[in-house]
Amino acid sequence: MSFKTLGLSEAILRAVTELGYTTPTPIQAQAIPAVLAGGDLLAGAQTGTGKTAGFTLPILQRLSQTPVARSHAPGKPAPVRALILAPTRELAAQVQESVAQYGKYLKLSSATVFGGVSIVPQVKQLARGVDILVATPGRLLDHMQQKTVDLSRVEILVLDEADRMLDMGFIRDIRRVLAALPAKRQNLLFSATFSDEIKALADGLLDRPALIEVARRNTTAELIAQKIHPVDRERKRELLEHLITSQNWHQVLVFTRTKHGANRLAEQLNKSGITALAIHGNKSQGARTRALAEFKQGTLQVLVATDIAARGIDIDQLPHVVNFELPEVAEDYVHRIGRTGRAGASGEAISLVCVDERDLLASIEKLIKRSLPREVVAGFEPDPHAVAQPIRKNSRQGAPGRNGGQRAPATPAATQVLRIKNAPKKKAGQSAGQPGKSRAPGKPASGQRSVPASAEQGRAGAPKPGGGRSRAQTAQAAPSQGRRPQRASSQAALLTPKAKSRHG
Ligand code: AMP
Repeated sequence: MSFKTLGLSEAILRAVTELGYTTPTPIQAQAIPAVLAGGDLLAGAQTGTGKTAGFTLPILQRLSQTPVARSHAPGKPAPVRALILAPTRELAAQVQESVAQYGKYLKLSSATVFGGVSIVPQVKQLARGVDILVATPGRLLDHMQQKTVDLSRVEILVLDEADRMLDMGFIRDIRRVLAALPAKRQNLLFSATFSDEIKALADGLLDRPALIEVARRNTTAELIAQKIHPVDRERKRELLEHLITSQNWHQVLVFTRTKHGANRLAEQLNKSGITALAIHGNKSQGARTRALAEFKQGTLQVLVATDIAARGIDIDQLPHVVNFELPEVAEDYVHRIGRTGRAGASGEAISLVCVDERDLLASIEKLIKRSLPREVVAGFEPDPHAVAQPIRKNSRQGAPGRNGGQRAPATPAATQVLRIKNAPKKKAGQSAGQPGKSRAPGKPASGQRSVPASAEQGRAGAPKPGGGRSRAQTAQAAPSQGRRPQRASSQAALLTPKAKSRHG
């Protein structure tokens, strides 16, 4: 299959060819014809699958086929024709970059608006006229309030990474945006997972959508080599430094659970001569963009990120992702490791796991339906008598409004939902933006702004400056001998996977 057979115009094909794309990815092969046909779409796809081009290319094509005269009242913003909502600044910026690249031979304008930067240039740009606007919900609402954006003639709406937007507490903002849109429009919803909240949103928003699902990379794609290095909590940093230097890693994305932990780790790595910067919700947009640019260029060896800040980071062929700490929410593991092995490249995802994280690891393995190989690095053998300490909850987890603070069980159900044959049909007279009251059993409660990016806080495993040990080699873990049964059982559970390992 080629892009040409999907019915895209010469101008778009030229841009795509210049980017080196030869074959559409599975999501593109399905989404492009569906969007070109003009109907609504519900797509289960994670970042890394090529979903951005999956919706951007047909949007560009549709808008370019029906040009509109740009006449608007002086002093008023020109109407936006396609609106793409994304959860984070990074993702919004990246999507807009893709729109600009794919549309470089078309006469369509695009812009992105997100918070954390001055609103003034955005206002000027919107006034000049923007066909395709990529926005984060909060800043878009600011523009709506200031009447610096005109959404009354939006023809196509995209909710990108809808699950993340709901996780971040944007549901009310999204509904306010929906209320400002014209009823007649095309709606595209992309989500990696399908909680009841997402189902309710899709149910109210989409009219007989085409249903598309691409395989979840965690269950099928074997491009990412995943492994666990059991290690004591105090020696994680030392082990990370050892791995980076002994294996000569040049570009490593490291995840911590907290902003504080990210800062501290970046500082310590720098002291050890490894160039590192932290990105998280407390950093200015400028600092985040600079860090990401340096990392992409290869001048920065390590980028330490929290889950929310890393969302949408798109780096071609990122070879190494390290979980310095496991995420509290198992689904985040999948998002984290999805940063590597993107669009066909192979990658490695390594988790440094201490005894405290035994239960987190168990829930990740349950989610991905496989046990991950344990590999103890010689010289970093964990203390068999170490006692698990409770992990202080990150505020993300305890926030109200997300199934009582817990994310809905992450879904192989992405598959289940999308297999429903008869998609919900909109009732006559129902406004496109408002979920039908009578058929929204999982309708989210209002008042749910639960997880602002700045809410990440709290614990950080405190790595002590450690004395170097002997030059390490890796060795397979042996089950703990366990002299003290109660303590040893904690460590044994970490060292030996519960589920039957696919790796033998
Ligand atoms: P996305 O899932 O949209 O974030 O895309 C992931 C990465 O895949 C991006 O770096 C894209 O540039 C790249 N990509 C998208 N479509 C293709 C394609 N058909 N062939 C090769 N690379 C692609």
